[in-house]
Amino acid sequence: MLRTHNCGELRQADINKKVTLCGWVQKVRDKGGMIWIDIRDRYGITQLVFDESKTSVEIIKVARSLGREFVIQTTGVVLERYAKNDKILTGEVEIEVDKLNILNASKVPPFTIEDDTDGGEELRMKYRYLDIRRNPVRKNLELRHLMLQHIRKFLDSQSFTEVETPFLIKSTPEGARDFVVPSRVNKGEFYALPQSPQTFKQLLMVAGLDRYFQVVKCFRDEDLRADRQPEFTQIDCEMSFITRDDILNTFEGLIKHLFDQVLVYDLGDIEKMSYDYAMEYYGNDKPDTRFDMLFVELNNVAKGKGFKVFDDAELVVGICAKNCAGYSRKQLDALTDFVKRPQVGANGLIYVKYNQDGTFKSSVDKFYSQEDLKSIASEADAKPGDLLLILSGKKEQTRSALSELRLKMGTDLKLKNNAIFKALWVLDFPLLEWDEQSQRFHAMHHPFTSPKPDDLELFDTNPGDVKANAYDLVINGIEIGGGSIRIHDKELQQKMFDALGFTKEESEKQFGFLMDAFEFGTPPHGGVAFGFDRLCALFGGSDSIRDYIAFPKNNSGRDVMIDSPSTIAKDQLDELGISLSE
Ligand code: ASP
Repeated sequence: MLRTHNCGELRQADINKKVTLCGWVQKVRDKGGMIWIDIRDRYGITQLVFDESKTSVEIIKVARSLGREFVIQTTGVVLERYAKNDKILTGEVEIEVDKLNILNASKVPPFTIEDDTDGGEELRMKYRYLDIRRNPVRKNLELRHLMLQHIRKFLDSQSFTEVETPFLIKSTPEGARDFVVPSRVNKGEFYALPQSPQTFKQLLMVAGLDRYFQVVKCFRDEDLRADRQPEFTQIDCEMSFITRDDILNTFEGLIKHLFDQVLVYDLGDIEKMSYDYAMEYYGNDKPDTRFDMLFVELNNVAKGKGFKVFDDAELVVGICAKNCAGYSRKQLDALTDFVKRPQVGANGLIYVKYNQDGTFKSSVDKFYSQEDLKSIASEADAKPGDLLLILSGKKEQTRSALSELRLKMGTDLKLKNNAIFKALWVLDFPLLEWDEQSQRFHAMHHPFTSPKPDDLELFDTNPGDVKANAYDLVINGIEIGGGSIRIHDKELQQKMFDALGFTKEESEKQFGFLMDAFEFGTPPHGGVAFGFDRLCALFGGSDSIRDYIAFPKNNSGRDVMIDSPSTIAKDQLDELGISLSE
């Protein structure tokens, strides 16, 4: 080894030892007769001291030539520090240097390698290897590593086998676009990168593996957001001979184990909520249950008073913001502007203030008497001092807009406590959703999800009403994972493909291999996949999964460090038989 200790290791007990350290130059302070240099590695920082009256001229000269981020090796004796620094672990000691070697020089880094850097996001991504030298980024990667170890340990203890599945496959239907890879050997043909290993894990169940997991990259060509990357990591799992509750219990175990081991946090039992309930009371299939502010349907009390907007609406629905009756005109206008933003999509916002003195004030006083407003308030269980915020319109859009408003109020009123974790399983999703554009049903989860047995009959009459044996794990309003009990019967699988509007030929071409396998003794099976990057971000207390990925892509799917995607040489294109249109 080029060193005897690392830069975070030395303590008072090491005083008088001769040590050798290696690391990067963090800081040089040259006070004439004395020079101090902080040397840094991933373990910490140690102070080196050079005293012109004692240290050799050559060493002093080398010390003066050092710049930030030079890599050095240094040997010296550990001394007790005169002025101790309790902010760093090695703050009681320093090293009186008698050897100093430059292992590698460095250009001046484009941003400071400090916890609070002066580098902007784009610059940090371009020089991500420098960014990772910073404590906060490195710590995120260490957290990711730790979580991965616990996941592997837990799943191994439950007899899961880790199996790798191929990346060069054919399209898997997870609802996004595929990334495709042209084949040189089979010109004109393409592989698709897996959106998930879905069909393979099911085949592993047919193969009798019984319990499978994989820490796996998935690729989806979708529009990007803070919590989406074109390639991301899943903890992908599948089990045989199980019911839905066996899956929920097993993975509740995994999640609780992680919280316990990594955050020393007792998650408690994971609540279960039906999709219908989540939509009705939170307007969202991934409700943030850290705070209440549940939706109250107001059709009965708000309609029929001559206010056309409400009278014509399919749904009038509100939330009660506790102790917000004092909101100013300006605050209410800001909320109105918020709900009218195209991303939220409401036409306007109606408020009812329940004043402390028991009177009411609303934006629709013209149509509603004090009595009327009182009955609206009591429907919402409002108390003096509360503020009702009401939206109306088409059911789905209105719920979705009110959900956005609820989440905003949660943020504004500081109800989203990041030190608290509220987990729930959302159950019984619809199996299919109608797509207006293509005028056909799409699988809400994916086409291998089984319908709830009781709903099988509805398949032929009202396919849109069939519920799926599917589940999502939601924590603090973030979808952390999802899965389902699968169809394991060829006939039912064909019926599902029919409902999705696939012709026999299409389903045969795309999934014939799976249908074939289903003819060779398929065990009942089901599984789940967790978004590992999101789980890491949640554990680390960040909204951005990028912070937990060593080399992430930016918002346009670009890796600005290696400058990818990029063009390829004409030769390469020719070999693949591809010509580009101008
Ligand atoms: N393959 C699914 C997904 O990626 C998860 C599952 O059904 O197990 O969302």
